[in-house]
Amino acid sequence: MPTAPRPARSLLPLAAALALLAAPPATAQDLPDAPSARPVALDASRPTPAGQPRNVVLMIADGFGPASATLGRAAKGAPLALDSVLVGTAETSATDSRVTDSAAGATAYSCGIKTYNGAIAVDADGAPCRTLLEAAEDRGMATGLVATSRITHATPASFAAHVARRSEEPEIARQMAASGVDLLFGGGRRFFTAPPEGAAAPAGAWGGAGGTLATDRSGYDAIDRLPAAALLADSHLAYEIDRDETDQPALADMAVKALDLLAASPDGEERGFFLLVEGSRIDHAAHGNDPAAHLGDILAYDDAVAAVLAWAARDGNTLVVSTADHETGGLTLGRDGVYVWDPAPLLAATASFERMRERVADGEDAAAVLEEGTGAPLPEGAADAARGAVRAEDTAALAALVTTIESEPAGVAWTTSGHTAVDVNVYAWGPGAGRFRGAMGNDAAGRALFEALGLDRE
Ligand SMILES: [Zn+2]
Repeated sequence: MPTAPRPARSLLPLAAALALLAAPPATAQDLPDAPSARPVALDASRPTPAGQPRNVVLMIADGFGPASATLGRAAKGAPLALDSVLVGTAETSATDSRVTDSAAGATAYSCGIKTYNGAIAVDADGAPCRTLLEAAEDRGMATGLVATSRITHATPASFAAHVARRSEEPEIARQMAASGVDLLFGGGRRFFTAPPEGAAAPAGAWGGAGGTLATDRSGYDAIDRLPAAALLADSHLAYEIDRDETDQPALADMAVKALDLLAASPDGEERGFFLLVEGSRIDHAAHGNDPAAHLGDILAYDDAVAAVLAWAARDGNTLVVSTADHETGGLTLGRDGVYVWDPAPLLAATASFERMRERVADGEDAAAVLEEGTGAPLPEGAADAARGAVRAEDTAALAALVTTIESEPAGVAWTTSGHTAVDVNVYAWGPGAGRFRGAMGNDAAGRALFEALGLDRE
């Protein structure tokens, strides 16, 4: 099996990592320029800065369970940036189910309360709850949302909108554009550029008060002040494994650009900022039981964590918290009673299964698409099975195929196409990080974010 990773995956060898925090916070001159080239080794024995943070960065790896962390580390061949700041776990149940969805999961962090599945920043009775982003806005702080999904998707929505059901995305876009948030980077362009049927204007009216709305990569690159939105796909941004650098920036690039813009904005300079960064599609790949796409987005997320930790180490006043809203897919490493698993076959893949399916549906040769996409010789009959399943739009048959051609060779398995109730990891570094420790409820972790900034939830 080929083991060389694709260049786009920028695996960061820890051997080359800087012991940035073994010394007092580094100055800007000590750090190399390129954000994704800044590996960080945080010395776990070193106490994090004390006191109250001026800025908070909440990072959410949607659908990232403990097995996802093990998968990412093994594939990287070195500790994850996350590993150095692991502090505990979060229990993720919703009020109406032990298995949460992303809306209830995000509302636990945004409002510090548990609520029902599908709820976007409303409590179990449907009443709006004050979000961390709104409390930060009320204090005059700068705020931003970065996601690789539609920006109107459940996680970012739960910080800047209040609706009873997560499917109300036009209304979420309307509320988000009016929320006072200073920065939006992600997908979901259609809600901000195209009027819905029968309407005269798009649901999200971004761009008042001198705000910029970028709809492509060059527009994103040109953004140099806030308020600004860069919505670079009608729906979700691409999976990392499929991403075209000329079309969409990496999550690490968006995160660092957001940090620089927020810190330099008038509100940010005066009173600090709150930023949400979500690796949204770790979850989507796990729903599809696609281990190579899952891994690609995990490594891109960890690159973003490394870049954000380096920024925070330089700043010294920024609390960084990373967690997940829930686990997705019931990923296991090892299967069928065999004591072997190996990430190498997944590193040979060059496309998500979703992209391969689209290409076969567009009439391309199934055998060629699958061999190129998986980077491996195909099992007997796989191309015929793919053609038939695509033609019949048989999702179960397609799922069985991705198991045969990717999960089985790697020795990994999945128990569901949905979410699970497995506790997720919590990572924290910076002033206020001591509030995150041990096994916490996800709602308690949300309240700790308010407390760290000294913000009221009412
Ligand atoms: Zn999900």
